[in-house]
Amino acid sequence: MKRYRVCVLGGGPAGLAAAASAADENASVLIVEREKKLGGILKQCIHDGFGLIHFKERLTGPEYAERYIKDMIQKDVDYITSSFVTDVKKLSDGGFELELQTQEGMEKVESDTIVLACGCRERTSRQVFVHGDRPAGIYTAGTAQYFVNIMGYMPTKKCVIIGSGDIGMIMARRLTLEGAQVEGVYEIKDAPAGLDRNVAQCLDDYNIPLHLSTTVTQVFGNKRVEAVEVCQVDKKFNPIKETARIIECDSLILSVGLLPENEIADKLGIEIDNATKGPLVDQTFMTNVPGVFSCGNALHVNDLVDYVSENASLTGKYAAIYQPSNRTLVKINYSNKDFLYVVPQYYDSSKGGELNLYFRAQKEVRNHKVAFLINDEVELDKTYKRMLPSEMEAVKIKTEKTVEHAALRMGGPQK
Ligand SMILES: Cc1cc2nc3c(=O)[nH]c(=O)nc-3n(C[C@H](O)[C@H](O)[C@H](O)COP(=O)(O)OP(=O)(O)OC[C@H]3O[C@@H](n4cnc5c(N)ncnc54)[C@H](O)[C@@H]3O)c2cc1C
Repeated sequence: MKRYRVCVLGGGPAGLAAAASAADENASVLIVEREKKLGGILKQCIHDGFGLIHFKERLTGPEYAERYIKDMIQKDVDYITSSFVTDVKKLSDGGFELELQTQEGMEKVESDTIVLACGCRERTSRQVFVHGDRPAGIYTAGTAQYFVNIMGYMPTKKCVIIGSGDIGMIMARRLTLEGAQVEGVYEIKDAPAGLDRNVAQCLDDYNIPLHLSTTVTQVFGNKRVEAVEVCQVDKKFNPIKETARIIECDSLILSVGLLPENEIADKLGIEIDNATKGPLVDQTFMTNVPGVFSCGNALHVNDLVDYVSENASLTGKYAAIYQPSNRTLVKINYSNKDFLYVVPQYYDSSKGGELNLYFRAQKEVRNHKVAFLINDEVELDKTYKRMLPSEMEAVKIKTEKTVEHAALRMGGPQK
């Protein structure tokens, strides 16, 4: 049976970057990808806006993925597509045996380490509370995107979008450009869930109304969606009945959030963070199971693919150079009044080294200071002009100290 140094599960931008950087460390690497082609979600993102940070260029999703695919192929990384892992077992020597369903049948490989790079999936109508019928015409935004951009089908002539996530806003523009009428985007919270730039470029530029503090409360239709009911909500998100309005449409498109894909993590007994729904990791992006790493959207939902590639490159390197050792995990403390989440959640002070920290604010704040404290001393502080829950922040912390306590703190407004 072939033994690899690193086995990467998922061939999206995270898996590709992790594989390439592991190969840079002379590791033998295998990527296992469930779909026919590598590239992950980027294959269907034909709009531009990818790579602004990493390549300083405006690339489409497929162009961005292609650069990483070429790089990975040049580095002699092995990959198999249309395949997925059906079982993983821990070996007595610390490595793993993976059982794969491939096009040729069941196969087994061994690997010293595993990188989980399975991306995320969209929340569906089962995860939001909409009453009424379940006719055809209810899609997630990613499914609508797959229909239009990959299959060349128009899923709607007139639709309503529930949720103001980035994919929903991108699809509002895309469907408008393809001739559909997007009646409006309805967001239950009082602020958009996606990036400001998408509100401006995908909604405002196309006169697509964004209704905040409003949601879809009912779907009507026999075989196909015929109409939806929308209602404004109060501060506790309860619909205000008197504001109910019926909108005729043939589709309801959901853009109500993403969830890290972590079925294999479950099998391995990996601990999941309630805030991110991805694994708990240390600064090397290693989970509580030694030798198993996580990166990209499987770790936490990133807003920009550039951050995914950056974090995955580090993860691939750490997986390649991993040596079993005792760990001294120090929890990175934060208040969930200030932050939605902080990743990594732990610092392994027995390893030391740089900490690449990703976090999101709990609510919009302006001119606030964020400080990172090691052993109660400020190691880094930075004033942010504006922080939003929809925008992920990233900082690097270099320290020579033996970390005994670590915390991310938000200070009050600065002058
Ligand atoms: C619709 C949409 C639009 C976006 N638009 C933008 C944008 O404009 N700009 C931007 O910067 N970012 C954008 N993003 C975000 C960006 O695409 C993601 O951050 C990035 O694709 C995440 O990379 P990933 O590799 O973690 O996940 P993915 O791209 O989702 O890749 C994960 C891969 O893992 C595979 N996989 C899953 N489970 C298994 C398994 N069990 N076995 C084997 N393989 C498996 C999947 O098939 C997939 O190929 C968008 C995302 C979406 C969903």
